[in-house]
Amino acid sequence: MHQTREQLDVQAKEILGKFSYDTITMKERMGIPAQEMPAQDPAVRVCNMEEVAIGYTENQVRVEALRCLQCKNRPCVQGCPVSIDIPGFIAKAAAGDFASAISILKDSSLLPSICGRVCPQEVQCQLTCTVGKAKKDIDQAVAIGRIERFCADWARENNAEPAMEIAPATGKKVAIVGSGPAGVTAAADVRRAGHEVVMFEALHKAGGVLVYGIPEFRLPKAIVQKELDNLTAMGVDIELDFLVGRTRKIHDLMDVDGFDAVFVGSGAGLPRFMGIPGENLVGVFSANEYLTRSNLMKAYDHENAQTPLFHSKKVAVFGGGNVAMDAARTAKRLGADEVYIVYRRTEEEMPARKEEVHHAKEEGIKFLMLHAPVEIVGDEKGKVAGVKLITCELGEPDASGRRRPVEIQGSEKIYDFDSVVVSIGNSSNPLIKQTTPEIEVNKWGNFIVDEETCQTSMKGVFAGGDIVLGAATVILAMGQGRKAAKAINDYLAAL
Ligand SMILES: Cc1cc2nc3c(=O)[nH]c(=O)nc-3n(C[C@H](O)[C@H](O)[C@H](O)COP(=O)(O)OP(=O)(O)OC[C@H]3O[C@@H](n4cnc5c(N)ncnc54)[C@H](O)[C@@H]3O)c2cc1C
Ligand code: SF4
Repeated sequence: MHQTREQLDVQAKEILGKFSYDTITMKERMGIPAQEMPAQDPAVRVCNMEEVAIGYTENQVRVEALRCLQCKNRPCVQGCPVSIDIPGFIAKAAAGDFASAISILKDSSLLPSICGRVCPQEVQCQLTCTVGKAKKDIDQAVAIGRIERFCADWARENNAEPAMEIAPATGKKVAIVGSGPAGVTAAADVRRAGHEVVMFEALHKAGGVLVYGIPEFRLPKAIVQKELDNLTAMGVDIELDFLVGRTRKIHDLMDVDGFDAVFVGSGAGLPRFMGIPGENLVGVFSANEYLTRSNLMKAYDHENAQTPLFHSKKVAVFGGGNVAMDAARTAKRLGADEVYIVYRRTEEEMPARKEEVHHAKEEGIKFLMLHAPVEIVGDEKGKVAGVKLITCELGEPDASGRRRPVEIQGSEKIYDFDSVVVSIGNSSNPLIKQTTPEIEVNKWGNFIVDEETCQTSMKGVFAGGDIVLGAATVILAMGQGRKAAKAINDYLAAL
C-alpha cells in the first residue's frame, strides 16, 4: 500500500524517540527498519513531470543514519568511485549536524544533490555495505544515497553550502568543452586554483545529460541550474550555442584565443541504431531525440512547445537500460495509452537500476522480455504501424557475462505500435576528433587518455567523462573531471 510522507514521518519519529545517538548499541542499530523513500502516488505522478521520489523527512534521515554500524574497515568507502567518507557524513546526519555532513560530502563530491538522486548506489557503496550483507538483502543496506540527497538538499534550502575559496588570479586560461558533470567538476576545480575558465557548450542550455537526458521526474532541473549558478558565481564564464570543432576548433582556442589548456568533456551523445528495415519511418525516435525534445524543448507542453511530440497511443521502447526506462516513463507522461519495454534478454539481465524498473512497473509500463526487433513496419503514409519481433531464448554467456539472446527462427510476429523509441546505447560524437587529428581515439571513437592525468595525446589537452569511458555514469564522469583538473593545475603550474 502507498504510504504518504507524513505517515512515514510519524513512524520514523516514533523510532527516533526510542534511541539516543550516544548510547545506541550495534544490536539496536541492526534492528531498525530500513526507511522507505516517500514517493508520489503512481496514479498521480504519471500525469505530471514532478519528481517521483520526494525525499526523506528529517526524522527519517536520522533514523536511517542510525542504521549505520560505523564499520572500522569502511567497505562502503571502497565501493564509492570518489571515496566519500561515508561513515563520517552519516554519523553527522544521525546526530542532526547536517552542516558538517555536507562539508564532508563536498570534500569528495562536487554534486551530492545530483549523485544522491541518480548514482547507482546498489552496485557501488550500498553493494558492499555490512548491514545489507548481514541481512543478505541489498535492499536492507544503509540507504547512503538517500541520506546524501537529504544533506545536500538541506544545505541548498538553508543556504549552508560550504564557500568555495578561489586562489589569486594566475593569468592562465583554461577552456572546458561541454557542460556535463565532467566539465562542471573540472571547471570548478581549475577555477579554484585561480585560473580564468571559459566553458563552451554546444546546446542552448548547460548541464549536459543532467539537463537534456535525465527527465525532470528523476532529477529536477532547478537543482542542476543551482550548481551551474554556483559555477558562474565562482567566475566561470559559460558560453552557450558554441560547438567546439565548428564555431572554433581546439587549435583556434589554443593558438589564437590564448587558452593554455583544454579539458574535453563532450560526452557520448551520438545515438546508435539497429540497422533494421523501417528505422527511418515517421514515429521512430532515438531515445536521445525523444528525451531531449521532452526535457529541453518541453515537448510535453502540447500548447506552448515549439516542437511538440505527436500524441502516441502505443509506444515500443527497444532496450533495457536506464535510458530505456526514462524514455518509457516519459512516453507515459506524454499521454501514451500503452508503453512497452522490448528487451532481448530477461529482467535479470537488464542493465537498468532496479529502482527504475520498479517505478516503471508501478506506472504501468509493460515489459516484453525475450523479444528482439527485426523490422519496423510502416503504413502507406510512411508512419509506424507496427513492429516485427522475433522471440529469443537465453544461450551461453557472452563477453559481458550475461546470457546471450538466441533468436528462435520462425517465431516472428507483427505487433501493433504507432511509435518506436530506440534506446540501445550511445557513442561519442566524432566532430572534435575529425577536426583535431592529433587526438588519439580507440576503435569506438573514445579519447585515449593517461589513466592518472586524463591527458590526451595532444599537449595541453585533457579529457574525461563519457568521451573517454563510453556511456558511463555521473559519478565516474565527475571523478575524471576532478582527476583531470588536478593534472591541469599541475601542468599550468609548470608552464
Ligand atoms: C537518459 C539518460 C539517463 C541516464 N541516467 C543516469 C543515471 O541515472 N545515473 C548515472 O549515474 N548516469 C546516468 N546516465 C549517464 C550519465 O548521465 C553520463 O554518464 C554523464 O552525464 C556523462 O557526463 P559527461 O560530462 O561526460 O557528458 P554529458 O553529460 O554528455 O555532457 C556533455 C556535454 O558536452 C556538450 N558537447 C558535446 N560536444 C560538444 C562540442 N563539440 N562543443 C561544445 N559542447 C559539446 C554536450 O552538448 C553536452 O552538454 C544517463 C544518461 C542518459 C542519456
Ligand atoms: S558499510 Fe554500511 S554500515 Fe558500514 S560504515 Fe558503511 S554505510 Fe555504515
